[in-house]
Amino acid sequence: MSQVDTIANITDEVDGDEAVQQNISAGIALADVLQTTLGPNGRDKMLVGDGQVVLTNDGASIVDRIDIESPAAKLVSEVAHSQGGDVGDGATSAIVLSGALLREASELLEDGFHPRTIVNGYAKAATRAQARLPDLATWENHDNETRRRLVETSITGRWNAELTTFLADLAVRGYQAARSNDGPRLENVTIHGIAGGETADSKLLDGLVIDTDRSSTSLTDVPVPLPQRIEDARVAVVDDELTLQTPKSASQLSVEDVDDLQQLQEFETSEYERYVETLTTHDVDVLFCQKSIDDRLKALLARAGILTFERTRQDEIHKLQRATGASPVMRLGELDVSAVGHAHVVERRTLGPSEFALVRDAASTQVSLLLRGGTDHVVDETERIIVDAIDLLASFDARPGVVPGGGATEVELAADLRTWSRGIDDRTQVVVGAVADALETIPRTLARNAGHDQIDTLLELRHRHHHGDTAAGIDVETGEVTDMNSRGIVAPIRLNERLLTNATEAVTSILRIDGIIHVDEPVHEEGDGHNHDHQHGAGAGLQSDSHGYPWAIGH
Ligand code: ADP
Ligand code: MG
Repeated sequence: MSQVDTIANITDEVDGDEAVQQNISAGIALADVLQTTLGPNGRDKMLVGDGQVVLTNDGASIVDRIDIESPAAKLVSEVAHSQGGDVGDGATSAIVLSGALLREASELLEDGFHPRTIVNGYAKAATRAQARLPDLATWENHDNETRRRLVETSITGRWNAELTTFLADLAVRGYQAARSNDGPRLENVTIHGIAGGETADSKLLDGLVIDTDRSSTSLTDVPVPLPQRIEDARVAVVDDELTLQTPKSASQLSVEDVDDLQQLQEFETSEYERYVETLTTHDVDVLFCQKSIDDRLKALLARAGILTFERTRQDEIHKLQRATGASPVMRLGELDVSAVGHAHVVERRTLGPSEFALVRDAASTQVSLLLRGGTDHVVDETERIIVDAIDLLASFDARPGVVPGGGATEVELAADLRTWSRGIDDRTQVVVGAVADALETIPRTLARNAGHDQIDTLLELRHRHHHGDTAAGIDVETGEVTDMNSRGIVAPIRLNERLLTNATEAVTSILRIDGIIHVDEPVHEEGDGHNHDHQHGAGAGLQSDSHGYPWAIGH
C-alpha cells in the first residue's frame, strides 16, 4: 500500500510520548495477566468463550485464545509464539520478561530518558547477557538422565511428580529411539493420541502407528475375516483412489439396456480382478491406499487375503515409505517389484474405541508414542506438551548446554549486568541496570506464585550468588533457595538465549513506535499481515523494519 493510500485512510492519530505510553501499558497489562501462571505453582487460567471452557496455564495457549486488540500487546503475545516455536518452551517467561522490560522502560521515560537511549541500553545488556550465558552452562556428561530432567522441568506443574517423570521418560525414550547414525530424526517419531484410558497407559511402540479409524467400518464389511497380523509382509502403497477411472466406458453404454449394464459390470469386475492379480503377482500382503477403495474391489482383495487400509493420510504415506521402503504409485498398473516395500510385522490393533495399524521393520528406526488420557481435550493437551518436549530435546542436542532454572540463571545474569554496567560511562549504564531488575522479575514471580515472600527470596538469592553460588535458585516445592543443578531444575541453554532475544526484540519494536495511526482499511499488504520470519539468533533484533506488522507504519 502506498504512502498516499495510507494517509487517505487515516481517521485517527496518536502521537509521540502518548503513543509510547499507551503501547507500553498495553504490553504490561498482557504480561500481568500471564504472570500468575509462571512456574510449576502457577495457577490455571479459565478461558471462557463460545460456550466452552478451557483450563490451562500454558502461556502460548492463553495468548492464542484471548482476543487481543492492542497492537502493542499483540507484539508481546507474538513473543510467546516465537519462543514456543524456537525451543518448545518458555512462552510465559518470555512474556513476563517483556512486561518487566516495558515497566522499566516506562520508568526510564518518566525520568527523561530518550527511547533511543533505552533501546541502545537494552541491546547492550542483551549482548552482554548472551555472552555470559555459556559460562553459566554445563556442557559435559549429559546423558538421558539430564534429558529427562530438562523435560521434567519444562512440563512440571501439569501432572503429579510420578506422571511427570513417566511422561518425561517416555518423551526421552521416544526421542532417543528415533535417532539414526546421523543424529536425531524427528520425523521418525509418530505421536498418536487416543482418548479413553489413563495418561499412565501411554506407551512407546517400536514401529509406525497408522490411523485406521476412518476405514475401520469398511474392514468389518468384507466377506472374509481379515488377518490380524501379518509377518514378513510385502507392502504396497497407492497414492490415489482405487476405483475404476473409466467414465468413458460408462457413458458409451446406455444404462437402460440390461445387456449393456451387465456388460459394464463384467468389464469392471474383470478390471478389478486385474488389480488383484497385479498385487498377487508381486506377492503383496498389505495395501495402503491414500483415498477410498471401491467396495467390490475391497471384497476381492479380502478374498485374496490382502490386508487393505484406505484413506491413509499423506503424511502417513510418507512415513510408510520411509518405514517399509515402498514407493507410492499412482496406478496399480505402475506397481513393479521395486515399488513393493517390506515390514517384519503389520498388525491391526484396537485400543479403546480406536483402531490402528502398527507397521514394524527392523531396518527402520520409526517409533510411535501412543498417548492416552480421559478425554479428547486431555489427549490433545498431552500431545501438544510431548511435541514441545521433543522440540526441547532437539534444541538441547543442537546446543547441549544446561543452565539452572528456578530463577538462578536470571539472578546470576542480573548480578553480572550490574557489575558490568559500572564500566559504562553514559546513561545506558542506568538502562543496563534496569535490565538486571527486569530479569529478577522471573525469580520474584516464581516465589510469589508459590506463596513465598518475593523480597526475602530475592535477597537470599542475591546473597548466595554474591558468594559464588551461581546455580542458587528457588525450589518452589519447598520454598528453599538451593542449588538448581543438583535438584535437577534445569533448562537447555538455548531456551534462555531465545528468551533474551525474543523479549528484547518485542520491547524494542514497541519503543521504536512513536505514533499510532488508525486507518479505515486493513493495512496488510497481502495474506494475514503477519510476518512470521523472525530472524533467528540475530542478537537483540535491532532490525529497522517493522517486522511486517501493519500498525508500525513509517519505520
Ligand atoms: P514457561 O511458559 O515460561 O515455560 P512455566 O510455567 O513452564 O513457564 O515456568 C517456567 C519457569 O519455572 C522456569 O523459570 C523454570 O526454571 C521454573 N521451574 C520449573 N520447575 C521448577 C521448580 N520445581 N522449582 C522452581 N522453578 C521451577
Ligand atoms: Mg514451561
